[in-house]
Amino acid sequence: MVIKDNIPLQSYKTWFEPIEPLKLDNNVLIIQVPSQFFYEWLEEHYVNLLKKTIKKEIGTAARLEYSIIVDNRGINDRPISIKYPTSNKNAVHNKPTSMPLSLNKNRTRDIPNPFIIPGLKKIKVESQLVESYSFDNFVEGDCNRLARSAGWAVAENPGKTAFNPLFIYSNVGLGKTHLAHAIGLQVKENFPEKTVLYVQTEQFIQQYIDSVRNNNRNDFVHFYQMIDVLMLDDIEFLAGKEKTQDTFFHIFNHLHQGNKQIVLTSDKPPVEIKGVEPRLLSRFKWGLAADLLVPDLDTRIAILRKKLYADGIEIPNDVVEYLAYSITTNIREMEGALISILAQSSLNKKLITIDLAKQMIDKFVKNSTREISIDYIQKVVCDYFNLPIEVINLKTRKREIVQARQLAMYFSKKHTKNSLATIGLHCGNKDHATVLHACRTVNNLMETDKQFRVYVDELDKKLKF
Ligand code: ADP
Ligand code: MG
Repeated sequence: MVIKDNIPLQSYKTWFEPIEPLKLDNNVLIIQVPSQFFYEWLEEHYVNLLKKTIKKEIGTAARLEYSIIVDNRGINDRPISIKYPTSNKNAVHNKPTSMPLSLNKNRTRDIPNPFIIPGLKKIKVESQLVESYSFDNFVEGDCNRLARSAGWAVAENPGKTAFNPLFIYSNVGLGKTHLAHAIGLQVKENFPEKTVLYVQTEQFIQQYIDSVRNNNRNDFVHFYQMIDVLMLDDIEFLAGKEKTQDTFFHIFNHLHQGNKQIVLTSDKPPVEIKGVEPRLLSRFKWGLAADLLVPDLDTRIAILRKKLYADGIEIPNDVVEYLAYSITTNIREMEGALISILAQSSLNKKLITIDLAKQMIDKFVKNSTREISIDYIQKVVCDYFNLPIEVINLKTRKREIVQARQLAMYFSKKHTKNSLATIGLHCGNKDHATVLHACRTVNNLMETDKQFRVYVDELDKKLKF
């Protein structure tokens, strides 16, 4: 399909596969999209591609209409259509928000809570937000684009977007807590009068237990019911806590009905959470579930640089790169290694060098996250020969480049658990036989060429932890 060829596969999967064509009638193509957010995203990022494709496939008179699946609460079962003629340039600038559609429930559905005394709302709630976990400090990358932009949208319009709750999930150390705080901080900046609260689920559970013990469970519930924007972090801890779940269920319903924003984080998507009541789980799916993935190398480097910059610290680039190359799956560990390097260097007045970085990583980082990567090996080899790393993928027979590639293959075989095929794929898209040949060539040359042997030994030292 035309669209598939024009954008990365991942984007196609995320944004185009879920689209259902509903009908084509009189040059009007109606497509069904899963949510308001989805529609906004398509409009913002793919409007030109869509326009072009539709014109090409249907003709210049073609128009596109969206049908948005509203929600599964049965409050509004009728899909909403948004129209814009693709041939009308101005229409493209029509921001969705200015259109006569709203996914919010009626304001009149607000059920006043008889327990909240007017004026009590003015009570200042300590938001528990960490200043440094801001959007400014949250580096954007492919790994977090959806979650980040949904979080931003929520902060601009808490409780009034289709992402309620906003459910953020990922493995540990990938930014859920940071993003939850960022949303809270941003809401406070946009709407200082709103009551914002960040809580860890464990804290929430403890407060619940205390309230039962102290016989003031109602106060506990009412406190939470007056929050405008609630971030509950790591809700997987609710598993097996039936009473707390029950209470949270009521809080959730109350907030949601009052158009209050709820942000949840978890280590798994809603469908995989065990030990949580189905009625609560189904509510977690009402809004948008967005995951955070492992950041790619550039994003990891950008995160480290941002952190250093924020702290006003300078350390050599190669150390930053080394850290980003060696710690791939957990941002917290990467930052932890950076902090130990800084601490070591200032305590012992040591210069910050790659050697120090290696020692620290050895000491503090779990083996699992520390495996040396093919990327890193390529970088070290290319740096050693003063070649830009891109040459590895060049189709050239230039001797020095062929040699660098062979060395990268050889060390990848020696220092990683990757298969010959994988190594080949990453080193210039070669097959496994080429990698095997490279390893033999390096071994042979080491025996016959003294200078070459020196190269290999020096490189090996650089690569060793
Ligand atoms: P999680 O809650 O998913 O375990 P955290 O939010 O605690 O992860 O993130 C771990 C560390 O990584 C934090 O110090 C956070 O600031 C940092 N971090 C994660 N993602 C980013 C990002 N995109 N940009 C900058 N720092 C990030
Ligand atoms: Mg966390």
